[in-house]
Amino acid sequence: MDQQLIQRAAQDILKSQKTIAFTGAGISVESGIPDFRSAEGLWQKYDPEEYAHIHAFYSDPDKVWLMLKDMFTLVITAKPNPAHIGLAELERMGLLSTVITQNVDGLHQAAGSKNVIEFHGSHRTLSCLKCSTTTDGTLLKIEDLPARCPRCSSLLKPDVVFFGEPIPPKAQTYSFRESRSCSAVLVIGTSAVVYPAASIPMMAKEEGATVIEINMEPTPLTGQISDYLISGSAGKIIPAIVEEVRRQR
Ligand code: NAD
Ligand code: ZN
Repeated sequence: MDQQLIQRAAQDILKSQKTIAFTGAGISVESGIPDFRSAEGLWQKYDPEEYAHIHAFYSDPDKVWLMLKDMFTLVITAKPNPAHIGLAELERMGLLSTVITQNVDGLHQAAGSKNVIEFHGSHRTLSCLKCSTTTDGTLLKIEDLPARCPRCSSLLKPDVVFFGEPIPPKAQTYSFRESRSCSAVLVIGTSAVVYPAASIPMMAKEEGATVIEINMEPTPLTGQISDYLISGSAGKIIPAIVEEVRRQR
């Protein structure tokens, strides 16, 4: 871990008028939920392009539910890691306004973050594509899956955004406003290739914000949009930044 960059990030956060975080699957890897690009795990078994497209759900919901059931099992048992906890801590300290997450695992809220925008929806609720009935997913057990609509018995779909589906309008509007009005953004554990989500750090940059990237490896943002990349695991880097912020404050 590059201690100079940790210090620089702490300074940037302390001098920023408004800081936000933009997170992706990488922040939850240390909670046991694999990202899309990891060498093993869920997405070796299920090609996201094949299973996470809305057309796949329409044409073969039973097949897609095999993947959803595995994802549910992971999400239900996962616990927030030091990166999620560190971001919640920064919010409590008054140093982080908003977390915009592409994740659907609810781990930011579980860690205590209050102001979370779920850009790609969540597993907490499920909806019926036929009659629009919505069900509470937190009450479901693995044995209840795949879940059926209590009204019309069609297969329910978790309220996560599949490829080919629009972003929930409120989440999009609010996220874009936050990214245009912040003066620093922590971009954590995202490969930044899924649009429109990936435009969030770009918007921030266009408005003059400092873009601080935290990732195991470089991304298309690195050296282009990001002011600097702190290489390594989010579960180590975020707590180190929080500690440094405390020290400098
Ligand atoms: P991605 O899988 O495309 O990229 C993950 C990024 O995180 C990579 O750049 C990787 O280098 C980095 N990374 C991996 N482990 C890390 C760690 N410990 N610390 C820091 N960085 C780490 O994920 P994405 O950009 O979020 O895009 C995939 C889409 O699929 C998103 O919509 C995402 O939310 C969704 N998805 C969600 C979950 C979840 O809810 N936990 C899991 C898988 C995929
Ligand atoms: Zn129904």
